[in-house]
Amino acid sequence: MSISFSEDNGDEIITTTASIPEDTGEGSLRPKTLQEYIGQEKAKGNLEIFINAAKMRQEPLDHVLLHGPPGLGKTTLAAVIANEMGVNMRITSGPAIEKPGDLVAMLTNLNEGDILFVDEIHRLNRAYEEILYPAMEDYAIDIILGKGPSANSIHLDLPHFTLIGATTRSGQLTAPLRDRFGVTLRLELYTAEELQRIVTRSAGILGVAIEPQGAYEIASRSRGTPRIANRLLRRVRDYAMVKAGGVITRAVADEALSSLEVDKLGLDALDRRMLRSIIEFYNGGPVGLETLAATINEEAVTLEDVYEPYLLQHGFLTRTPRGRCVTRRAYEHLGIEYMGQQQMDF
Ligand code: ADP
Repeated sequence: MSISFSEDNGDEIITTTASIPEDTGEGSLRPKTLQEYIGQEKAKGNLEIFINAAKMRQEPLDHVLLHGPPGLGKTTLAAVIANEMGVNMRITSGPAIEKPGDLVAMLTNLNEGDILFVDEIHRLNRAYEEILYPAMEDYAIDIILGKGPSANSIHLDLPHFTLIGATTRSGQLTAPLRDRFGVTLRLELYTAEELQRIVTRSAGILGVAIEPQGAYEIASRSRGTPRIANRLLRRVRDYAMVKAGGVITRAVADEALSSLEVDKLGLDALDRRMLRSIIEFYNGGPVGLETLAATINEEAVTLEDVYEPYLLQHGFLTRTPRGRCVTRRAYEHLGIEYMGQQQMDF
């Protein structure tokens, strides 16, 4: 089996869920089998059945759509599926497909049973999406050569392949594309206990000495996201080596993370700026996402995809039809006096 990964670069805030340059080496930490893949029990349980059924029928797996916030293990899970099915995986992404020919070349280069992984599939050009419809449904594509009356159409059969699409925003997928996935799995933020297991496993691979409470401290400050947990582990390891004889204890993890401005609940400077702005400029909300993004000079999509999932899940923020509101918990966490909801939402 061969799998090639290409990581994209996001911004460089330590707790960003986007992949950043210091995550190179992520590859060695990726679990290879379903058994090694920690958490996501529901998705794994379903997958196990689909994989076994496909193997028994000796057919490729149905097309799979994975959705959930960045860094939760979509690419990893796709590679696990390829490994469990014993097939090769080709990796591309929606924005990397710049012309129809790119997609046709990817499809025609596949072998029987292969997996084509398309990351950020919601960003695939809508016009090229139509190439995927017959490819997914009938394992064939029709290519039009030339223009006008002299145009010719060539019908190409494709091998039976599995498309695995990953997206942070399944709502942006067109209905025809979404309908062509036989299996849709939603990945959830991880619990601190699951992340503790991930940190402990990664520490083992990296040869880092870590105490269980040290692993838990990192886990509980990682925004429910394995990519962040692994990144914080590396940073804390450096700190432990230089300042604490190399062993990651709870106290060492706490000191290291505090020096990185990652607070007790994993909120970073931008999270706090976002919550504080809603309180200071908009009386706690509601405020529209675009307005908020302009206020703190960030992209609205970054706030929505990267920051909000964790803040929503932990009850710091609510989404209402009129915009975002902070909760009493956010006031308390930031140490700002809560004066009651200033504006009612209805
Ligand atoms: P996504 O594709 O959703 O952005 P990735 O699959 O690239 O996320 O995962 C980021 C990193 O987190 C991987 O390198 C991997 O080491 C780690 N990881 C993700 N999910 C798990 C898991 N369930 N168990 C262990 N490690 C995981």
